[in-house]
Amino acid sequence: MDLTVAGTRAELAEAMKAREHAGDRVALVPTMGALHEGHRSLIRLAHEHADHVVVSVFVNPLQFGPGEDFSRYPRTFEADLAACAEENVSVVFAPSADDLYLPDRQVGVSAGHMGTIVEGTFRPDHFDGVLTVVLKLFNLVRPDVAVFGQKDAQQLALIRRMVADLNVPVSVVAGPTLREPDGLALSSRNRYLSPEERTTALALSRALREGAAYGTPRDILRAAGAVLDGAARAEPPLVLDYLVLADPATFTDVGDDHRGEAVLAVAARVGTTRLIDNVVIRLRA
Ligand code: AMP
Repeated sequence: MDLTVAGTRAELAEAMKAREHAGDRVALVPTMGALHEGHRSLIRLAHEHADHVVVSVFVNPLQFGPGEDFSRYPRTFEADLAACAEENVSVVFAPSADDLYLPDRQVGVSAGHMGTIVEGTFRPDHFDGVLTVVLKLFNLVRPDVAVFGQKDAQQLALIRRMVADLNVPVSVVAGPTLREPDGLALSSRNRYLSPEERTTALALSRALREGAAYGTPRDILRAAGAVLDGAARAEPPLVLDYLVLADPATFTDVGDDHRGEAVLAVAARVGTTRLIDNVVIRLRA
């Protein structure tokens, strides 16, 4: 069956109904569009878990702060549709903000304390906006499975938290971060980078790689921090927002006695572009 494009909630409901067969499983891949190979890998992963894949394409105003890149966020809808057709997506849901949000809306999801730490320190209200739109998408699409990227590790942790705390009937599946051959994590925002900025930006993934070669929190943070310090002196320079080694489920800093998995997460700006990246590390006993 061909790809159906639903531009409104009503069209989505119609498209879902048309494909309704008893027992069919539906997977949702929420995106903000400007689709790249990373998104496509999530769509392929979604196919492994469902009979139908729904991709949402929505640049959610609620998750952008004042002064962030909402208005210049890349919008490549025709190319996104072509990518979704190639990946055998059943339905693309691309609503307008006016269709998705009531003008007098009052109620949203709070990400709680976890939404105020690490990335939340630099982007207040961001995770409330993410969780609110994701819960709305869950309620509209009613997927059995929802697929998210490890690339946004704190977002993934918060979605898992929301699903647990609010008893949302969906299974969350995570896909690994896809990278360029030189290590740069694929991101819709990479297209903002000049060639020189892109060279500086390679320090994020290099820092994570160097850090991951060590086994204790102190050594991991020292090795990664050294790479970022070097990049802060490059031209153009990298401006670090944070480098943390955190519990993947709670995003609180791990201490030197932490065992098992930890996420080494970094956020930095190069020119006017803000980039995030992370890697999961198994700490040595
Ligand atoms: P976005 O369009 O940036 O909101 O991302 C939509 C989904 O794609 C999120 O679940 C992201 O974590 C995921 N994603 C973004 N970049 C990558 C990547 N390089 N590899 C895998 N998944 C990604």
